[in-house]
Amino acid sequence: MRWIAFYSMILLAITNNLGFAQKQKEEMKDGKKYKIEKSEKEWREVLDGNAFRVLREKGTERAFTGKYDHFFEKGDYYCKGCGNRLFSSDTKYNSGCGWPAFYDVQKEAIEYKSDNSYGMKRVEVLCADCGGHLGHVFNDGPKDKTGIRFCINSAALEFRKKEGKEDKKKKDD
Ligand SMILES: [Zn+2]
Repeated sequence: MRWIAFYSMILLAITNNLGFAQKQKEEMKDGKKYKIEKSEKEWREVLDGNAFRVLREKGTERAFTGKYDHFFEKGDYYCKGCGNRLFSSDTKYNSGCGWPAFYDVQKEAIEYKSDNSYGMKRVEVLCADCGGHLGHVFNDGPKDKTGIRFCINSAALEFRKKEGKEDKKKKDD
């Protein structure tokens, strides 16, 4: 019955590989390795003061002061640190909380981390590509949609208009 031994060997090889892939995935999730990694100095070079304070130091902009709080043009919101597409204007709404609010997020664009700072139990939202702090997520979003509210700092975002402006933007750059 050699073939039984043969097939169990293959099966063993497959399960080992799966375990390995799973472990790698978990290591990624721990937030130790991001697609985009920079030193503090490098981040300071590419981010303005506000963006650095929010994205890299987990700061929060003052309520009602961010440039996207009452901003409702059609387009997408990208991570200001690395350009990862995070939110669509289709899911943005006025929550009245003083920060840009979204009820949904682009698939696999963000990470969640529990945050117990300031004596509150909150869930922090991070960019999945660079680990930049974006804001928090709450479960008081619109009930007719997802019921979830992503409360995001304007300083961590960069808005880009939809409608084929890509070419013009390239020229400007
Ligand atoms: Zn990012």
